[in-house]
Amino acid sequence: MRAAPADSVSGTDGAGSDHPGPATLADATTADGEAILADLVEAGVVGASGDDARPADRFDDRWKTEIERLRERSPAALATATLAVAPTATAAEAVTEGDRSFVVLSDGSGDPAGEVWVRRPVAVAETAAARTLAATTDLERRAVAAHGLSVFLDDCPVCERALETRKAGGCCGPPRTDAEGHSLRALVCPDCRTQFVAFE
Ligand SMILES: [Zn+2]
Repeated sequence: MRAAPADSVSGTDGAGSDHPGPATLADATTADGEAILADLVEAGVVGASGDDARPADRFDDRWKTEIERLRERSPAALATATLAVAPTATAAEAVTEGDRSFVVLSDGSGDPAGEVWVRRPVAVAETAAARTLAATTDLERRAVAAHGLSVFLDDCPVCERALETRKAGGCCGPPRTDAEGHSLRALVCPDCRTQFVAFE
């Protein structure tokens, strides 16, 4: 019987991680997300005008189609697809804890510190984005870019509920902060309480 690290149950980081953000394919930080945005604009994936940035329609359409395909997959098949785009993991397993499904990525060491527990909706969103980036661009840091694209999600890929911006952090822990102590906000599904991305 597997046990989720205590704080992954609230949708935050897996054990052994001190990054201010939800568990993701590449363990990306908020700083990575900002840096990768410029690459996404240059690759034509994101269109920027002034302060406003949105995924280009032709990218967005393919991403949504890929999300629909992946969410129909069995948990084991999703884990396989997720592993194929995760840069550092060597194994992936589908695990259910109560009503929460995870793709558990691991580095093969068997050490819980080498595991990342990714909520199913995050695995669907980021794997779909990484696959779409692979099909449409020659970007190299696709898993980090896929996480960066999560700021543009409107709906939960699994529940299809509109995401809300809330204070980042679990139900019972302290508010999450960045390295300078600024509190972070996060994009959260009100149904399954998955956190997709944290930002200042
Ligand atoms: Zn949801």
